[in-house]
Amino acid sequence: MRICWFNEHRLGLVRDGIVHDATDALTQLPRYSYPFPPGDLLIANLDRLRPHIEAAAERGERHAIEDVRLLAPVANPTKIIGVPVNYRKHVQEAEAAQEVFTNHYSGPIIEQGLFLKASTCLVGCSEGVSVRFPDRRTDHEVELGAVIGRKTANVEAADALACVAGYAIALDMVVRGPEDRSFRKSLDSYGVLGPYLVTSDEIENPGNLNLQLAVNGEVRQSSNTSQMLMGLRQQIAWASSFYTLYPGDIIMTGTCEGVGQVNPGDVMSCQIEHIGQMDVPVRSAAPSRH
Ligand code: MN
Repeated sequence: MRICWFNEHRLGLVRDGIVHDATDALTQLPRYSYPFPPGDLLIANLDRLRPHIEAAAERGERHAIEDVRLLAPVANPTKIIGVPVNYRKHVQEAEAAQEVFTNHYSGPIIEQGLFLKASTCLVGCSEGVSVRFPDRRTDHEVELGAVIGRKTANVEAADALACVAGYAIALDMVVRGPEDRSFRKSLDSYGVLGPYLVTSDEIENPGNLNLQLAVNGEVRQSSNTSQMLMGLRQQIAWASSFYTLYPGDIIMTGTCEGVGQVNPGDVMSCQIEHIGQMDVPVRSAAPSRH
């Protein structure tokens, strides 16, 4: 199943390039009262809601996917987890280009640990990335995005993929500079997820997917998730040994070589095998006072 949020937070079921409005299915969500449980309520109830989403989609309005405004397919993640230096050739370019990247490569992933991006940075592909500091370098990182489906703590690597609700294309955008990663990767709109969520039953092996990013038609990043140094199972097991994962939490699983700069006016075209493709415009943000 492929689900999206579109226009003014309508729920959509995507089939063959058509978005079927399935918003009526949301009436089947359990009634919660304050304090709400952590995490994304739709993702937490996705298995139970599936037949209701299918039924609502049969009755709902239909739109060509290119005619809707695609928002992030997860509305309320408690956290976005980043995986640093997770492709060997990206490690090499990070080591070689320290002057360009201005932050220092500081050892393998197992020493650096995972990092967090603010959940408020998340946008969908139609919203695009807004460059807030045009005098600094903003870089693209295309990554496989994994969305956690259930509360997960201390899971074994062997069982970790059962905790994944689905997958999407992720962009872990970053401003280069000396500050902490969590600061430079948390600007509003610097986390993109889209074009929709593909449920995990449709992805046989997340460890063998081609991924690619082109800027204005020029291919910059091209690899396969089999090139990851730490695979998704280990990422989930390691993350969940430090903190509990909740439904809707997003893991951006690391980027491959070919990281480069984007500027307002550019369009990033991203593809991941068995998921799809999305075009993400780069825009100018309102000028900052700092
Ligand atoms: Mn990254």
